[in-house]
Amino acid sequence: MRAPSPSSDTPRGASLTARIARLGAVSILVLLPCSASASEKIEGIVERVTGKTVILDSSRIRVNDEVKLSGDAARLSEIEIGDWAEASGDWNEQGIFEAARIKVERLAPGASFADKLKSASEDETKKLDKSGKIHSDEAVTSYVSRVGMGLVPEYAGSEFSFSFSVIQDPSLNAFALPNGAIYVHTGLLAKMDNEAQLATVLGHEISHVTQLHGQRQYKKMIAVMIPAQIGALVLGTEVQRRSDNPVLSFMTAVGLNLGMAAAVNGYGRTLEDQADRVGLRYAVETGYDPRESPKVWDTFNDVYGEESKTENFFYSNHSTNEVRKQNLKDEIELHYAAGGPGPGAAGVDQATYQVTMLGVIRENAVEDFNLKRYRLAEKGFERVLAQAPEDAVAHHYQGRILLATKENPESRPRSTTSRSRSIPTTPKPTGTSACSSRR
Ligand SMILES: [Zn+2]
Repeated sequence: MRAPSPSSDTPRGASLTARIARLGAVSILVLLPCSASASEKIEGIVERVTGKTVILDSSRIRVNDEVKLSGDAARLSEIEIGDWAEASGDWNEQGIFEAARIKVERLAPGASFADKLKSASEDETKKLDKSGKIHSDEAVTSYVSRVGMGLVPEYAGSEFSFSFSVIQDPSLNAFALPNGAIYVHTGLLAKMDNEAQLATVLGHEISHVTQLHGQRQYKKMIAVMIPAQIGALVLGTEVQRRSDNPVLSFMTAVGLNLGMAAAVNGYGRTLEDQADRVGLRYAVETGYDPRESPKVWDTFNDVYGEESKTENFFYSNHSTNEVRKQNLKDEIELHYAAGGPGPGAAGVDQATYQVTMLGVIRENAVEDFNLKRYRLAEKGFERVLAQAPEDAVAHHYQGRILLATKENPESRPRSTTSRSRSIPTTPKPTGTSACSSRR
């Protein structure tokens, strides 16, 4: 259940400079091909209607009396939560989207595929339940479930069967099935600093469900749901090509086509970016400190650096992580900087989170040690010792890390802040369509 967010619907003195800077990052490549009207387009599921403001794709859309409405709503009062809407218009200096035209449809694209997607999701949920990979520590699973359910928008609670489970796997990963079953790996739980960062990850996954990303990608989803031999052939080739990808191996072993599409391939940049934006709104409206959200991407880079084999986990790689981090910062500046949660907002306390995750952190540090990732292992054991200074396992492994790195100085833990290569400075355009990409 979300707390209402009076601040997020209130026009604020948004920084025009930031808006220009943000648009500038993509406009040279993305906006020039658009028509002379210079209108931008926002599309997604309507999440709230308050007065003359509609929340769509995390943004405030102002619907004045002059706005031309078409499709299933002829006037503002006919727009319903859960409708599919495509708004054309322009941003004003307060970070509000002034709509000129809105097309509303009761059914989102791919609606005819929804039932099939739902039953396939349920099949995969059952396979996961029986996989032996579901983490059973009640304290951890109920904590994740509480945080996740707290982020789900009220209207969506009855439309989807949201559930939150933990998968015993060291990968830094999370994924959502279209029916609302969301999974987060122990490897990711172990590396987050606090609850607000976990909320960022879960908010992202919830957004894939509420914004119907599976359904909207139905043509691609049909391809991954092709049964039997064709699927096996495709999967076999893919597994062979990327045999070092543990998530792919796990998904293939359990027989998860939808799960693999979501976890390994992602939904493409446009929808992943939307999930970042909408998920941030869920986190902020639940009361979490938004400043923790961009830090999640630092963790991804810190853990995986530039390892190409991690590309597409959580739809991430080194360069896109930097762009996504900046996008979140821009979102915070645009929508949540004034009147929003300030210092002391929920979820920043590290101790509560890390005490709950102590066993998970310890296990993952041991995994990192076994994988000879000594820097990450050391960091994990330091986390354990910060909460449990007498922890015998952590002390034992710290000694082993010293020994291992003494024998092999090349693998000595590096400073956690050092990076061997500079961060790319030229972000890629964030959309595939010339006019649909606004950030
Ligand atoms: Zn995603």
